[in-house]
Amino acid sequence: MNGISRGTPAASPLTVEPWHILAVADVERALATGQDGLSARAAVERLRQLGPNEVESEPQEPWWRLVLRQLRDPLVYILLAAAAVSLTLRDYADAGVILAVVLLNAVIGFVQEYRAREAVRSLARLSAPHALVIRDGRPQEIASRDLVPGDAVELVAGSRVPADMRLVQVRGIAVDESLLTGESLPVQKGTEPMPNADVIVADQTNMLFAGTTVVHGRGRGLVVRTGSASELGRIAHVMREVGTTATPLQTTLARFGRLVGIAILGLAAAVLALGLFRALPPAEIFLTAVALAVAAIPEGLPVVLTVTLAVAVRRMARRRAIVRSLPAVETLGSTTVIGSDKTGTLTKNEMTVRAIWAGGQHHAVSGSGYAVDGRIEQEGRVLRADDSPSLAAALRVAVLATEVDPAHFEAGQLVGDPTDIALLVAAMKGGIVPSELRRQHPELDSLPFESERRLMLSLRESPAGPVEHLKGAPEVVLARCHRELGPEGERSLQRERALAVAAEYAANGLRVLALAYRHSSGRHLTSASLGDDYVLTGLIGMEDPLRPEAVAAAHDAHSAGIRVLMLTGDHAETARAVGKRLGLGDRVLSGHEIERLSDAELSQALRDVNCFARVTPEHKLRIVQQLKRADEVVAVTGDGVNDAPALRAAHLGIAMGMSGSDVAREASDIVLADDNFATITSAIEEGRVVFANIRKATFFLLSTAAGEILAIMVTVLAGWPLPFSAAQILWINLVTDSVEDIALAFEPGEPDLLRRPPRPRREGVLTGRLVLRLGGVGLVLASVTLGMFWYTLNATGDLTIARTVAVTQMVVMQFYHTFNCRSLDRSVLRIPLFSNRFLFISMVAVAAVHLSALYVPPLRRVLHLAPLDAAQWGLILLVGLSVVVGGEIDKLINRSLRRRLG
Ligand code: ADP
Ligand code: MG
Repeated sequence: MNGISRGTPAASPLTVEPWHILAVADVERALATGQDGLSARAAVERLRQLGPNEVESEPQEPWWRLVLRQLRDPLVYILLAAAAVSLTLRDYADAGVILAVVLLNAVIGFVQEYRAREAVRSLARLSAPHALVIRDGRPQEIASRDLVPGDAVELVAGSRVPADMRLVQVRGIAVDESLLTGESLPVQKGTEPMPNADVIVADQTNMLFAGTTVVHGRGRGLVVRTGSASELGRIAHVMREVGTTATPLQTTLARFGRLVGIAILGLAAAVLALGLFRALPPAEIFLTAVALAVAAIPEGLPVVLTVTLAVAVRRMARRRAIVRSLPAVETLGSTTVIGSDKTGTLTKNEMTVRAIWAGGQHHAVSGSGYAVDGRIEQEGRVLRADDSPSLAAALRVAVLATEVDPAHFEAGQLVGDPTDIALLVAAMKGGIVPSELRRQHPELDSLPFESERRLMLSLRESPAGPVEHLKGAPEVVLARCHRELGPEGERSLQRERALAVAAEYAANGLRVLALAYRHSSGRHLTSASLGDDYVLTGLIGMEDPLRPEAVAAAHDAHSAGIRVLMLTGDHAETARAVGKRLGLGDRVLSGHEIERLSDAELSQALRDVNCFARVTPEHKLRIVQQLKRADEVVAVTGDGVNDAPALRAAHLGIAMGMSGSDVAREASDIVLADDNFATITSAIEEGRVVFANIRKATFFLLSTAAGEILAIMVTVLAGWPLPFSAAQILWINLVTDSVEDIALAFEPGEPDLLRRPPRPRREGVLTGRLVLRLGGVGLVLASVTLGMFWYTLNATGDLTIARTVAVTQMVVMQFYHTFNCRSLDRSVLRIPLFSNRFLFISMVAVAAVHLSALYVPPLRRVLHLAPLDAAQWGLILLVGLSVVVGGEIDKLINRSLRRRLG
């Protein structure tokens, strides 16, 4: 802590320390910056010089380790043993094929795992943190990694401190530094220089440290150390890594794969025993059994899942949902309840003041959005602030009790709370110039808006001494007023009347604010200094239009069997009006009522109430807990610091990307880049696609395995010549399984995905019916292949040709069957051929590869194949269609069964 430079060039002016004993002006000088930050040019130069603001994470596995890992697999050992056996038998062709299979499998596995790893890494990039800095005198969001010493950063409750900084402005800021100090109580911070250089981190009360979080208030700091030079970097604490845990489906599928593997090994052993019993050549039957096991074991399944998940993550990102953990992708698919915020998620968060109640009278406001064209009218008469002292008084408080800087707004920038911007717009419609009014009344102190308090307060200078300007939710503000401003000046408050007006505004779906002021003697504010002698100047009703896509999405959610709950901090009547428009019914439960309910009563109420008003984060948490107890899969949205517990408690925490705090984002599984409710249903749809595609790929892999096993078992039992050699079995496996299952991972969602109920969370990949169905497919594959084999053998008397026909028949039918598997109940004819481009391309590749095996002589020799003539091809292609016909009949039965079962 004493002036040692860390990592930065010794000559740099940016290494002056200790920062905490310097006066603010000296800090600015040392950093060659000001309270309004750096110029963008200077920042770029410093970034080049000092490097990005990043704490190095763990080194990653080198690529060759990834390759080696592909070979550490029991199946590979079996194959290598088989290759060794072939070599000792001087069967070089088979040995070559087996080794080629090992190599190719390793390459395919490597490529897929590498891609999956990249996908996970881009996840981390997508959810990278941002900071609000002032550059070129203007506030702007930048990626935290681009911060440099000297940057001025704005922090509010909920912000994660992105670098070490010295505070230069504060408004009741308190910080949770437990990450560094282990102390979980928030620490108050200020700007005063400290007398002593020799204080530990925990006691440097004018410094903020990277990785800690702001829990109250706000402040501005100058960055002094970035990246690994920060305290956090020094203790080399690596932040929570994103997306590395195995998903439940990955675990289940791994177990399932092992089980199937053991069963198949058993069957292969049976084939071996039977073959030996039938006195088939031991070497041949051994190799066949090995090949059969290798071909039939669905070792591709985990890879398919990884690819499916990676595809889903990418698709979700394209639909503006950023996944922070892979398990979330699966949870999305089985979500049964969504608890959503209202403002900004279901609505646009584009506030427009519609109604003003001032001096005992209604005023209507016209215009839309933030455009300043519109008028304030009273009983049809256009009114400006100059014409009406009571309107002027209300608009004055509206302007003076906002946190948005009017200069930014007047310059065309829309930064800040939409509620506040709307108030500035309304005042401008009334002829007030907000920046001028604010210049006449400089701010002395303020209490920022926090949703728990539901009010904000600004203390400002005025000719008659300091005045407090108060705005907030009507109940909260009215509870602190005894007087109001009537048309003839101050009078005693008509509370019932004011509350009735507020309720009327709310019933029209408007968000309601009350405005008040009082003269003050002090020049500082604390939450304790809030008085109860304010003078009400007016009520404001503002409109926040519903997002049209949210209305559609709520409807989609309902038809997908998912309940939508609205959890809002707004007035009960506002919630009711909005809820009705969203189709959530008209029953509303308010925070007060929730507090009076026991857990059991709340749980009961949760069965049929969908709208919750004046909800605090604690209420939200209770709601989540009760829903979980009722065995629902709960997704909940949140944006504030205090939403973190509910976000963590829910199965799926969803944070807002635009308006959310860093703390909420870090507690979440999914971040909505556009804050939009409709994005949640899109993500749910993609989540369902994941499971559907895994099921399709599993169905494909196991049904083809069944076909191969049945074909071999039957011939061995009957004592016929084998329809494929060992190398040929491996060939079938290579050209079909390893490509086609992956292609199924890219299947787009089926149209009725959001018309089905959520999948029961404990339902496995395979159901009893699915096992029956795949057995049926296996039977068709085996019998047609054997039939063709037998027929050709009798017709030509040539085993090589007969085997070529059998191999080709199997490849062709699996090829057809891939198209069957694109849906488990829709007809092939209803699935657009090109909707899965990857599948189409890989099918062309499969066909080309198999044709080259038949017609490129060296390859043909190695695999012991023969060229086929047109008649044989025609027959194969035609007969092969039986698997499609069978598939259609099966789907028909399945559809009618589903209809009958509901
Ligand atoms: P939500 O986000 O669910 O709409 P909030 O917690 O943001 O709920 O707001 C709750 C209430 O607090 C609003 O109905 C309004 O009366 C009041 N309020 C909202 N924003 C502000 C603000 N910037 N200043 C003062 N009061 C506010
Ligand atoms: Mg809000």
